[in-house]
Amino acid sequence: MALNADVSFTWVGHGTWKVRSAKGKEILIDPWVMNNPAAPEMLKTVDKCDLMLITHGHFDHIHDALEIARKTKSTIVCNHEISVWLGSKGLDGEKIVGGNQGGTIEAEGIKVTLVHAEHSCGITEDGHLIYGGEDDRIQAWVHGVDVLQMRPDHLER
Ligand SMILES: [Zn+2]
Repeated sequence: MALNADVSFTWVGHGTWKVRSAKGKEILIDPWVMNNPAAPEMLKTVDKCDLMLITHGHFDHIHDALEIARKTKSTIVCNHEISVWLGSKGLDGEKIVGGNQGGTIEAEGIKVTLVHAEHSCGITEDGHLIYGGEDDRIQAWVHGVDVLQMRPDHLER
């Protein structure tokens, strides 16, 4: 199998990655970008995002999701609880796909499977903790080629 030179993976910092698929889709995994102190300045601007994948609701994985989604109109794949929370923030519900562990979702031509991870998932908002469902490990197949297997960072475990 030949590698596609157009596929790229860029580590933004912490658990955040930018991925470009073989067909040019821009994917953002765990959107902590503009406010991520580990992100280099040159990567803190997101002008295009076709698909956002959110592994869990901790601030260091979801903090910039709303701003980026409003700007780019990206499709978002995450667990059900986070999808409900995102929908409550005025994002286009048609662009948010909530799943459950074991399920495979196809969005933007990319298959995403949510599998179990050992972690928590609460969303902190205005000093309160909101139930965010279970942490998910995400596998994505980009146009049939398994190029990605991500799990949340979890040095804090
Ligand atoms: Zn976490």
